[in-house]
Amino acid sequence: MYSLPVYKRSPVWLQNMMLSARGYGRRTLREGSAFRRELEEVERTQWLGRVAMQRLQLERLQKVVRHAALHVPYYRESFAAAGFSPDQLVALEDVQRIPVLTKRNAFDAGERMLAENALGPRFSNSTSGTTGMSMKVQRDLQSINRENAFVWRQCIWAGGRPGDRRVWIRGDKIVPADVKAPPFWRYSKADNMLMMSSYHLSEQSAEHYIRAIEAFDPVFGMVYPSAVLLLARYMVNAGRTYRGKSLRGFMTSSETVTDEHRRLVQEAFGCRIFDWYGSAERVTAIGNCEHGNYHVISDYGFTELAPKEDGTCEVIGTSFDNFLMPWIRYRLGDSIMPVDPGYTCPCGRAFPVVKQIVGRVEDYVLTPDGRHVFMMSNALDHIPNLLEGQVRQDSVDEVQILIVPAPGTQIDKAAAVAAAKAQLGEGLLISVREVAEIPRTSNGKLRVVVRTI
Ligand SMILES: [Zn+2]
Repeated sequence: MYSLPVYKRSPVWLQNMMLSARGYGRRTLREGSAFRRELEEVERTQWLGRVAMQRLQLERLQKVVRHAALHVPYYRESFAAAGFSPDQLVALEDVQRIPVLTKRNAFDAGERMLAENALGPRFSNSTSGTTGMSMKVQRDLQSINRENAFVWRQCIWAGGRPGDRRVWIRGDKIVPADVKAPPFWRYSKADNMLMMSSYHLSEQSAEHYIRAIEAFDPVFGMVYPSAVLLLARYMVNAGRTYRGKSLRGFMTSSETVTDEHRRLVQEAFGCRIFDWYGSAERVTAIGNCEHGNYHVISDYGFTELAPKEDGTCEVIGTSFDNFLMPWIRYRLGDSIMPVDPGYTCPCGRAFPVVKQIVGRVEDYVLTPDGRHVFMMSNALDHIPNLLEGQVRQDSVDEVQILIVPAPGTQIDKAAAVAAAKAQLGEGLLISVREVAEIPRTSNGKLRVVVRTI
């Protein structure tokens, strides 16, 4: 809708009304009685004990695997080729008899990933195209409702409930690109939500954003980490804190969050980040609970953690939902660091705990000796006075750190090089370039590493 000329040309009050109308329409479809039933259900299943949770997982797995074997051409063929039959799935360990699905397999299978007996509305989104294999993921209404229920359950962990005032700063182009003066936000009455543009957020506009959030006084936020981080760094640098009264937490997703980001947000806004890790295929979800631990969300999908040589684990996920386009044993490629399996979180949930999400599959620097170095956000955290940064790699022996200093400050370039070197080691030529802003992806995300080799 945002790209329509009629929206772009409308005055702010009319854009607000159009947003609300869209919000009401979406709510009717996506947050109706089916959604509310799912939310009630997942609010209950989060408290299942270990054994009951395993039983739930096995039942859901059996259901989706049986469905795929009967109705989805790709799985019919791949199961037959591997000599696998759904009858062999009698315990969770049996899942390993099923062949792993790679991005390449799914890309090549195309329409053969879709169920032949599917009815009802179809929703689609695209996977990230950075590996050159972007594909359309189609989902059914059940999958949409379930996803919403899980996202809302985590918002509840963060202190907000459906209907509460919330602020939204994600990849929506709600404010036309040529708008140069505030407001860089719109209001959806349907969702009781202040929708702010991440594309207009900069050191020059940060104060306007903060004042607008304070005036709206949201209970919680759903934001890109880079957006809330810019605001937090801006406030800490300016020696000011947030003056709103109701804010209880931010739900973040889609980008890497470090301990330093959490500390800065706590210092500036006086509340915590509840980070959520997911994927366009909706196979695996990992989210922060009230105790700050990352949990693998066991009632969302079946997640396998395959150990790698470097001590981390690769994530392989199976979606319990989306019978239109099932994803079974899908190798996401992302890596996580598990904790001791004997550890239980004080929140009381039986969901396994993850120490850290090490990195999304694309977010690494390649060293001349062939290593993949993840978590470059940690290096950026060690650069004093940084408002935003990005690591660019265009050749095998060189990286460039793009930096945006906080207002009224300067960045010591030698310190930036040292911070990068501490993470990357020797062998790479590191240069630093000051820029006015870090360009966002087409979804408005800030990628910590952009690698063109
Ligand atoms: Zn917990």
